[in-house]
Amino acid sequence: MSTAKAYAAAGAKSPLAPSTIQRRDPGPDDVRLEILFCGVCHSDLHTARDEWRAVMPTVYPVVPGHEIVGRVTQVGSAVAKFKAGDLAAVGCLVDSDGTCAACKDGCEQFCPNMTLTYNSPDKRLGGVTYGGYSDSIVVDQRFVLRVPPKLDLAGTAPLLCAGITTYSPLRHWGVKKGKKVGVVGLGGLGHMGVKFAHAFGAHVVVFTTSPGKAEDARRLGADEVVLSRDAGAMAKHAGSFDFILDTVSAEHDVNAYLNLLGRDGNMTLVGAPEKPLAVSAFGLIFGRRSLSGSPIGSVAETQEMLDFCGKHGLTADVEVIPVQKVNEAYDRLLKSDVKYRFSIDMASLRS
Ligand code: NAP
Ligand code: ZN
Repeated sequence: MSTAKAYAAAGAKSPLAPSTIQRRDPGPDDVRLEILFCGVCHSDLHTARDEWRAVMPTVYPVVPGHEIVGRVTQVGSAVAKFKAGDLAAVGCLVDSDGTCAACKDGCEQFCPNMTLTYNSPDKRLGGVTYGGYSDSIVVDQRFVLRVPPKLDLAGTAPLLCAGITTYSPLRHWGVKKGKKVGVVGLGGLGHMGVKFAHAFGAHVVVFTTSPGKAEDARRLGADEVVLSRDAGAMAKHAGSFDFILDTVSAEHDVNAYLNLLGRDGNMTLVGAPEKPLAVSAFGLIFGRRSLSGSPIGSVAETQEMLDFCGKHGLTADVEVIPVQKVNEAYDRLLKSDVKYRFSIDMASLRS
């Protein structure tokens, strides 16, 4: 075992603070990374503050962070696809059983025994896994991704969660040219959803509560922007969408969006608010509409997404911060004040 520097929260009401954690020594299949950048996902905040306690209670201390880009410093004897010095990335998953139906289908994100990057039982070391707000991490090679050349690394880190969580449902629901697609909420996930839906050729409409984001939404690829608190503007789109991706992190009225779907339209929730959302049966019955959810994506799909981003030069729009500013970043996330992802420069943890 070795020690690593990290930022951890000691309790739901505690700010994140400097901490020391243990990392395992790399086994034959392991890759050790020096972490260069880690994105700040709203899930980090939900977990640090135990907002998902009903489903996934937080074990403290918690070290969040699942949007990791780093440099390989050591590989185990059975690792052929990486060598010391390579750039590599880790997302929301660090292990799965490899034997269940989901794993056999290449869908590790549905494995009942998957290990999340943080706040998940650590089958090797005991305790729970610790995430990317840290200077290093050791991960099984099956869950380590290749980083395409030439991408900005600070903007690449958020692809590992915000990127794949939007890419996967857009692909699954067949978003392409000729489809009218809504993206609700222009935060970390939302702005990647807009970039991907635009890149796939769809007509993209952004729904935002922040009038100040309208111009950015267009620059990011939106064809139209609707202020969701303007009932008249919403009504103009009634019954017209093929697909809507809802990325909102807080309580909100999903029925207002269900009513915008056309016949057989689908709305997929990726946002995961603390409290249950009320759904009107009529919003689904009329138009035979459906409401679904989607978690991250598989390892293979994450690599596909990264390669797509490499080919098209896509990264997240980031505000790079030192780790010492992470508590401030959480406060700003709650005010929807991020353009459009915080990316922590981990050099700040080493200095
Ligand atoms: P974020 O950057 O904070 O963005 C959330 C956006 O939602 C805000 O920018 C804001 O957009 C909108 N919003 C916030 N509060 C609102 C309210 N009260 N009413 C209406 N709109 C509101 O968060 P994120 O990192 O993108 O994450 C979004 C959600 O997805 C979180 O719940 C997160 O835990 C979840 N998530 C899920 C998965 C998955 O696998 N399904 C993966 C990652 C994250 P506007 O300013 O444009 O209105
Ligand atoms: Zn995330």
